[in-house]
Amino acid sequence: MRSYISEFESKEKPKDYYTKIIEELKRKNAELNAFNIINDEINSGFPFSVKDNICVNGVESTASSKILKTYTPPFDATVVEKFKHNGFSFLGKTNMDEFGFGSFGINCEKPAKNPINSDYVAGGSSSGAAIATALLKYHIAVAESTGGSISAPAAFCGVVGFTPTYGALSRYGLIDYANSLDKIGFMARSAADIRTVLKQCTGRDGKDTTSSSQPLTDNPKAKLTVITELMDKTDEKIKSAFLRFLDKIKSLDYKIEYVSLPEIEHSIPAYYIVSTAEASTNLARYTGFKYGFKVEDFSKKYNDFFTEARNQFGMEAKRRIVLGTFVRSASVKDKYYVKALKIRRLLINRIKRLLKDSLLISPTMPIQTPKIDEVKKLSPTQSYAMDAFTIPPNFCGFPHASFTYDYLAGMPIGAQIVTDQFNDYAALSFIDSWENIFDYKFKYNIGAL
Ligand code: GLN
Repeated sequence: MRSYISEFESKEKPKDYYTKIIEELKRKNAELNAFNIINDEINSGFPFSVKDNICVNGVESTASSKILKTYTPPFDATVVEKFKHNGFSFLGKTNMDEFGFGSFGINCEKPAKNPINSDYVAGGSSSGAAIATALLKYHIAVAESTGGSISAPAAFCGVVGFTPTYGALSRYGLIDYANSLDKIGFMARSAADIRTVLKQCTGRDGKDTTSSSQPLTDNPKAKLTVITELMDKTDEKIKSAFLRFLDKIKSLDYKIEYVSLPEIEHSIPAYYIVSTAEASTNLARYTGFKYGFKVEDFSKKYNDFFTEARNQFGMEAKRRIVLGTFVRSASVKDKYYVKALKIRRLLINRIKRLLKDSLLISPTMPIQTPKIDEVKKLSPTQSYAMDAFTIPPNFCGFPHASFTYDYLAGMPIGAQIVTDQFNDYAALSFIDSWENIFDYKFKYNIGAL
């Protein structure tokens, strides 16, 4: 178990420590597009970055969208307030897929690139958070996941990404994608560091009615469950690496069980119905008046005025507005939206049963890290299919974490562990024990940051 936070506190730092980091980070950022804003003024404390859809007082917060350009919130999100209160220092706003729409970090003005090899994607939508975590030894990222946005980039960049139980952390100050699905979570280089900040950030917040006061537990389970339908979706190379990993895990005395859960097939379509329905209502507030981008010319006709404003959205945001508005329209609502909610309930019940006496484990992504050019060629449905393993726990509100378990052709590959609601620490404890047997050295050295 390695805590970079405690290591940092006990370490002598050279006088120009922060200046050096900022210089190097800016240089890297020009190539990788990890940050939308870097805080030049940081000069003390353990650095934390904030995904660009989480509000920081006095700092432009755009969710990487052109429509929110210039929006500067006059308040901190609750999670940011807690970090500052606990002595962490704000390092910058990290790049992401616009409003969280994507799995690869390329649905934005400046596509994010993998820090190990910039021909490859960093993963998304919390792409910048993962790159920053891979670049900086002493740093923690505040990120957010709706359907896999923490797990996916964490896996592709070789760091630990943790998404808590829905409601365990306040969402106050988050620019909503889908309110019933969004979770603020963290990325770090070790599970121990995530445990430290999770303890400081959880709990009921009067400013978010969906936040919970239920304490988080650390109930270990002796069994690991693998869902066979998910293994069938895994690329052959990933599959054999994952099976080798399961073999190693046996040395930690886990019993491994394969279970069939045919209903899991419905999770991707049901998730994309619920998430786009909610996204389309959330995006309705961006009209060129109140937040960010303003249409200056008031002599414009009604349609021209709003077309100019709404045209600031990127392609994927527009697609989701159209899809989400359709699935919740009166004539088809029962067929799509209501049915998707029923599927969510059914999946929660089925998965909850499995989590009673086990943890779920799977690869994080069904494929190896793809190249940016390959991903650009994917159709929307091909791209959505890449979320097969990250959507079930996200859709159902179960805590989960992705961690590196091996390297293939020089790139890290991640596995995802899922636990029951409010048993969040069990996921981190599982990773602690894996870190003890895995040679957890970063296989790449991106500089002495
Ligand atoms: N890829 C998923 C989506 O586009 C999840 C993204 C997220 O978690 N924000 O909806």
